[in-house]
Amino acid sequence: MIPEPQPVVLIVEDELSIRRFLKPSLQTEGFAVAEADTGAEGLALAASRQPAVVLLDLGLPDVDGLEILRRLRAVSAVPVIILTARGRDEDKIAGLDAGADDYLTKPFSVGELLARIRVALRHAQAPGEDACAEPYASGDLAVDLAARMVRARGAEVHLTPHEYGILALLVRRAGKVVTQKQILKEVWGHAGVEQAHYVRLYVHQLRGKIERDPARPVHIVTEPGVGYRLKDA
Ligand code: CA
Repeated sequence: MIPEPQPVVLIVEDELSIRRFLKPSLQTEGFAVAEADTGAEGLALAASRQPAVVLLDLGLPDVDGLEILRRLRAVSAVPVIILTARGRDEDKIAGLDAGADDYLTKPFSVGELLARIRVALRHAQAPGEDACAEPYASGDLAVDLAARMVRARGAEVHLTPHEYGILALLVRRAGKVVTQKQILKEVWGHAGVEQAHYVRLYVHQLRGKIERDPARPVHIVTEPGVGYRLKDA
């Protein structure tokens, strides 16, 4: 196979108007664009074009987008950004839990899309181990996962193991949304519904320690109905 000179963005979307709207902006940004209007074609192109990022519509004419995502995840770790209709929180959560990296709610702006793609690409290249991870810094918050050190407004912050676990997970996925279920699985080791309120409680405590104004958080922002995102400034 001849290597592609530019990173490929694969758009799996049956709405021609959306593909037409995305393609020129992606090309201007230096991406090559591959397009599929069915899930089957999307899977074929994911294998043949080796995209750097996949934009996946969940409402496809042949196979459900979530099923495409599962089949893709079985063979590839390529970053996947889901495109969904407004108000379908359960779709977003199912998509993230099935291994999507992020989602965009239609209608979205090109600027928003490009920002999400940049985050997805940065994470795809970043090493997975905390030991070699670069310290995270954004505004008045600094987190050094290798040293287990958290500082806010210049002072060291002492966190409980669960608070630290949540923050560390958000830092590893900085800029990306993390679902409540992912937090429960990672921090508590299981994801029972009866533990769901733990997450809200611990995020509340965590904000009290790291946010200047916990009522108006600038670091840990809520993605309504889905989970939380660490704002990656
Ligand atoms: Ca569709």
